[in-house]
Order: sequence, then C-alpha cells, then structure tokens
Amino acid sequence: MRRGSWKIRIFIGLAIVAFAFIQKCNNKEENPYTGRTQTINMSAEQEIAIGLQSAPEMAQQHGGLYPDERLQAFVDNVGAKLVNNSIARETPYQYDFHLLADDQTINAFALPGGQCFITYALFSQLTEAQLAGVLGHEIGHVIGRHSAERIAESSFWQTVTMGATVGADMGGLVGNIGQNTLLTNGRGDELESDELGVLFMIQSGYDPYEMIRVMEILKAAGGPNRVPEFQSTHPDPENRIQKIKEAIEKYQGER
Ligand SMILES: [Zn+2]
Repeated sequence: MRRGSWKIRIFIGLAIVAFAFIQKCNNKEENPYTGRTQTINMSAEQEIAIGLQSAPEMAQQHGGLYPDERLQAFVDNVGAKLVNNSIARETPYQYDFHLLADDQTINAFALPGGQCFITYALFSQLTEAQLAGVLGHEIGHVIGRHSAERIAESSFWQTVTMGATVGADMGGLVGNIGQNTLLTNGRGDELESDELGVLFMIQSGYDPYEMIRVMEILKAAGGPNRVPEFQSTHPDPENRIQKIKEAIEKYQGER
C-alpha cells in the first residue's frame, strides 16, 4: 500500500459513517400512537405491503392455516375486539389474525402492517383473556412499528460497518456492536408490546392479570427438551412479569 493512502481510507470511512448517521437522524420520527421517537425509513403503506406479501409464506412455514373455521372465527373476534376498543382502530394498518395449524411450536408473531399469527400449540393452552393478551402484544408490535424500526436500524449498522471496513480493519468490531444494538432493541420491543397489550386488554374489558398467566405458560413451555421460539427471542419472563405489573398499575389507575 502506498504511504499516505491510509489517510484517504480513513477519510472515506469517516464520510460513510457520517452519511449513515445523518441518514439515521433524518429518518427519526415520532410514532403518533406510542409517542416514542424512532428511526423509520418506510411508510405505513410499505409496511402493510411487506406484511401482506410475507403472510402466506409465514403461514406455510407453520403447516398452513388451522382447518377449523370456528376456531379461526373465535380468534378473529378476539382480535377485532382489541382493535375496535383501542387506538389500533385509528391506525392505517390492516389487522388480520391467523390461527396456524402448527401444534408443536409455541409461538405468536406479527408482520409489519397488521398481519398477526398464533400457532395452535400456543392457542390450545389459552383462555379467551389470555388469547387477548397474546394478540394484544402482537398488535403492540405492529403499532410500535418494531419491524420497520429494525429494518432501518440494520441498514444503518450495515452502512457504518462498511465505513469502518473502508477506514480500517475494524469491520468485525463494529459488526458486533451493531448486533448487540439490534438485540437490545428487541428486548425493548417486547416490553413495549407487553405494555400496549395490557392497555388493550383493559380497554377491551379483559382482566390484564391474565397477561401474567401468559408469561407463566410460556415459561412452563420452556422445558428441558424444547425452547419455544416465542420465549427464545423474548426477554426473561420474570423480568416481563415485573414490567407487566407496573403497566397494570399505570393503566388501571387512569380509569
Ligand atoms: Zn413479541
């Protein structure tokens, strides 16, 4: 390498990092439903399109939709009740609640824009109020725009990593920081969704303490033989239960 070229490399690297940072700042917006400022680089319409496009594939990965239409209708009813009694109704999102045939994997998840899913394995262990807790939590992910935020954050870290790799041989180091940031955000997402879920339960007339039961069911499902996906990507249930209790006190006090 020619002497002095490292200066140019560092300069270009820093320029890329600065660009990524400015992009991130420009993409800051306040979520009108949660009041939280977050990094977002897509519109609600794009979120809805991504969700609708990915929904059939997600269902396929869990053995397709559950064949009993009566149970699906029950899930639809509970989901609609939560949407109609909460701020979810005022959002541009299109909510659909899919009961998946998978009777082995205890899981629930949401795609951006309103497509929510619960496996039969989890559904079959829940009462109506507990189902409301799980669906409320998933609606929380949609309204909290967590997927869109992760996408924006990860493209930020990709650009930073690129800048650092150009500037010096630090790509690996910055890459690790990036991943930790994503994981930290993930835990925050879960706690925000739990809190929104508790609020939607109260607004829809469900006993919010059933959300604590949901955490206990998830914890019990995490036996030695299998770690449910829902739990492996989520924070420690004990930690969540504490936060859920705080949320119940906060929102029941407002009534
Ligand atoms: Zn979650």
